[in-house]
Amino acid sequence: MIFPRRLRFRCSYCRTVFARSLSVVRLGPGNRRCRKCGREFADGSIEWPAATGDQKKEYLFPEVFWPYLVIGLAAEATLGLGELPNCHDVFLVAVCGDAIIVVPAIAYWIRCVREIKMSDDRYQRRILADAGYTDHATRSLPK
Ligand SMILES: [Zn+2]
Repeated sequence: MIFPRRLRFRCSYCRTVFARSLSVVRLGPGNRRCRKCGREFADGSIEWPAATGDQKKEYLFPEVFWPYLVIGLAAEATLGLGELPNCHDVFLVAVCGDAIIVVPAIAYWIRCVREIKMSDDRYQRRILADAGYTDHATRSLPK
């Protein structure tokens, strides 16, 4: 089973791909400088604390996930049923099928957790900077 294709996000000036993601929701400060053309543009990213419930849901469970899970589970069930006369193999097919379906999803969620933490840190730093704390001061604040 092939994991869903990731969406490509491009520089609005030179069309260089700057990010690939399963979800239409990406975490970031909202703008970036293109590595190729050097221009700054709004990249459509948002920070986790500022995201709505629906955006958070889409980020953690992207729409492209559901067909993958449904088709994967259906394929696994079909394979499992094909092995029905031999109960030993049904169990083996179920375990292997689950691993094939679940492992890429778990890898995705591990990456999500890391990016949410980075987004949260960035968001907090920006709030402190907006409140007048300098970069040096915010770095020394207790976590
Ligand atoms: Zn560019």
